[in-house]
Amino acid sequence: MKVIKFGGTSVGSANSILSVKRIVEAINEPLIVVVSALGGITDKLINTSKMAAAGDSSYENEFREIVYRHVEMIKEVIPAGEAQVSLQRRVGELLNELKDIFQGIYLIKDLSPKTSDTIVSYGERLSSIIAAQLTGAEWFDSRRFIKTEKKHSKHVLDTELTTSLVRETFKDMPRRVLVPGFISTDKITGEVTNLGRGGSDYTAAIIAAALDADALEIWTDVDGFMTADPKVISTAYTINELSYVEAMELCNFGAKVVYPPTIYPVCVKNIPILIKNTFNPSGKGTVIKSDIAEDQKPIKGISSINGTTLITVSGLSMVGVIGVNRRIFSALANNGISVFLVSQASSENSTSIGVRDADADAACEVLNAEFSKEIETGAMYRMTAESGLATVAIVGENMKHTPGIAGKLFGTLGRSGINVIACAQGASETNISFVVDSK
Ligand code: ASP
Ligand code: MG
Repeated sequence: MKVIKFGGTSVGSANSILSVKRIVEAINEPLIVVVSALGGITDKLINTSKMAAAGDSSYENEFREIVYRHVEMIKEVIPAGEAQVSLQRRVGELLNELKDIFQGIYLIKDLSPKTSDTIVSYGERLSSIIAAQLTGAEWFDSRRFIKTEKKHSKHVLDTELTTSLVRETFKDMPRRVLVPGFISTDKITGEVTNLGRGGSDYTAAIIAAALDADALEIWTDVDGFMTADPKVISTAYTINELSYVEAMELCNFGAKVVYPPTIYPVCVKNIPILIKNTFNPSGKGTVIKSDIAEDQKPIKGISSINGTTLITVSGLSMVGVIGVNRRIFSALANNGISVFLVSQASSENSTSIGVRDADADAACEVLNAEFSKEIETGAMYRMTAESGLATVAIVGENMKHTPGIAGKLFGTLGRSGINVIACAQGASETNISFVVDSK
């Protein structure tokens, strides 16, 4: 049994969804297909609701485009007849509900996160019933078995409950199943939630892990993981094989091929992941698994992300004091701020933390409040934040025990006149990250 997921562009046009049909029909084993919303629809749903909430009546035009995309697609891919009529009717019902919700928002000019989550769920609900009809698969509603709970004001998966619900739902599984990705419900209130932007990959991984699938396939619009962002490095090429660790390191930022939380659940179960291109099905793609063929390359790829802010916590009173780091990370965690790079020298008088630009102000505020007493007495300084930075990382499991990689990396940067503002390498030696000026 395998789980196979198609992203937004794969189901985004009549032509691409017909490729999906061909790919699915060529598979001769029990199958669970997971789909995203039609490409661009999630953004459009968010945009339409924001316009309505702002009292901008042209939200109706945006909404009409959403209707048009679905109605036209059905006309193009489902032969005229009874099946087409009944599908248009089901889709029409959902679109009517959506229309009423948008109108409600427009009238009361209020858009709560809860309403917003309900609205975006229509993207996958619509795409999945079209895809189910097209591929002759039985439709199952993921809101009934993907369950979240609220933590730090975010919805996170309840793995245990979800695993048992998935197993129960697919106990006697039909040969071909189709489910919407991304969407879920709160385990206590039953309200509609989701797994975060890009979360359909995660839905597929959760199901694959719960059912001990033989493989997880992610079909997207690129040939697989690349050695670097091709928009930045034109000679980047597709990597054929990656270990789970390498994939995790590479997808954390930069390579937007898979949603990062996807890797862990299948890695634990040792289920291989295959990344394939819907628009080039004969391409090799990238395989992610635990035992990859020997290869001598010390590094597999380079990931990079713009929009880094480096916050420095410093002060002479930090030296040798136990608990400063605990306070830094607790304060940030309690406010839902994610830290993706940490660098502290052994002198202990300063710790630098890499956060996304969007989190920078909040992070400074939280840390200034946490250390307000120390700052007042002069034992510590106010936080300093430097924005306009980029984080770059070289990734590869073969770096372990290979001397000279860091030397080569920093030597190359130095010779090119690039100043390294901060750097970090963990003892796992699978990643060396450094922060430089964006330009
Ligand atoms: N439709 C959702 C998004 O655009 C989920 C996904 O595509 O994976 O983020
Ligand atoms: Mg995606």
